[in-house]
Amino acid sequence: MILPVKCLFADAKCILTANGVCVSLRAFYRGYEMVIDFFVLGEYQTNCYVLRSGEAARESLVVDPGLGAEELIAFLAEREIAPVAVVLTHGHIDHIAGIGALRESYPDTKVLIHELDARMLLEPDANLSALMGRPFAAEPADVVLKDGDWIEQAGVRLQVLHTPGHSPGGLCLYSSEEGIVFTDDALFAESIGRTDLAGGSMAQLLGCIKEKLWPLADSTVVYPGHGPSTTIAREKACNPFLQ
Ligand SMILES: [Zn+2]
Ligand SMILES: [Zn+2]
Repeated sequence: MILPVKCLFADAKCILTANGVCVSLRAFYRGYEMVIDFFVLGEYQTNCYVLRSGEAARESLVVDPGLGAEELIAFLAEREIAPVAVVLTHGHIDHIAGIGALRESYPDTKVLIHELDARMLLEPDANLSALMGRPFAAEPADVVLKDGDWIEQAGVRLQVLHTPGHSPGGLCLYSSEEGIVFTDDALFAESIGRTDLAGGSMAQLLGCIKEKLWPLADSTVVYPGHGPSTTIAREKACNPFLQ
């Protein structure tokens, strides 16, 4: 199911297009000034985030360049922002498909993915693109991640929280300083990721959310892999899968 995208929290400045899609989000938390630009890419409406240490920063960390990444690449070119690294929250095609086009324009971009999903970059069957009839394979990852690792790229610092259940190498990206967490296809606003694909497990997914995400501060802003943003407090209170 595809939900219309809207911002659920009031303290961000959200720029809406004519059709109401939030394409650019400027979030300012606790005196820090991380800039998050936000795109909804491709037929699966995957959220792709471009993170920078400030408005003037010309380097970025890209999260999940999915299908239909032309809009993302045009944005980077127009603003002269280099994507120094790409983090893939997991290895399914709707989160990785843009890295081919991105690397054509920016060959030095590093690709980071959890060690358990790294092979999905190379195997169209594993990343589900073969199933869609559009086989896609990429170069191997530059960096493989594991639980607890710190990512420091483009002046942005995020901690890896391994949250399997939707995919074996699914990961969330957390910054306590910024009060934000990117929750992959693990936790959505009032929903969770599907667990019927290869390597999925409902029990594992629910366990990871309770163990890794619920201890985060209630005010932490949640940026999921699909659909609108939310907060940890809101999901604890309203998410029907976790009551
Ligand atoms: Zn997926
Ligand atoms: Zn997805």
